[in-house]
Amino acid sequence: MGFPRPDPRSQKRPPLQVHPDLQESRGSRWILPIYVVEELQGAKQYYIYKERCVFCDIIRQEADSGIRVVAENEDFMTLAPYAPRFPFETWILPKRHESAFENSSSHMFENLAKALKLLLMKADRVLDNPPYNLVIHSSPVQDPNNEHYHWHIEFMPKLTKTAGFEWGTGFYINPTPPEEAAKFLREAGVEEPVPAGVR
Ligand SMILES: [Zn+2]
Ligand SMILES: [Zn+2]
Repeated sequence: MGFPRPDPRSQKRPPLQVHPDLQESRGSRWILPIYVVEELQGAKQYYIYKERCVFCDIIRQEADSGIRVVAENEDFMTLAPYAPRFPFETWILPKRHESAFENSSSHMFENLAKALKLLLMKADRVLDNPPYNLVIHSSPVQDPNNEHYHWHIEFMPKLTKTAGFEWGTGFYINPTPPEEAAKFLREAGVEEPVPAGVR
């Protein structure tokens, strides 16, 4: 009798790990990861300069050109950001300005679920079931309603290893242009699974 072998069919994705952008440190002070701080500061500076939300401007521009748009529904736009840090990095943004995730209506969450499901199905099709990180960026709890920050989801499949250069310098080398990544995902045909009992 041999040793039991692991059943390859049981190999699944690692369990979902939550990386909250807000982490409570000792003494109940909230701390923010550096890239979230930079995004918040950048959005605030843009607002001071232009008196408009940078994410609302991105949504308008991307809707006009269409080349980096992956999908769209009534409430959400899914797009490849102009300067992605990782290949196939994709954002899902509410089309109407909203600074905090928790302010959204239940109708919006329904459309968010549809947008997210469609993106994950397309990514599975194009990238062959990749592991990924999914991050919600939302205004800090102390400032849930503002004009300069616009909550969104960032989807980052793990296709390349981030090397020492990226970690050390903060510059990211991304070999897939966002226009190409968006085109692959946009054109990936996915079929809605038929609900049980329906033929
Ligand atoms: Zn906005
Ligand atoms: Zn973000």
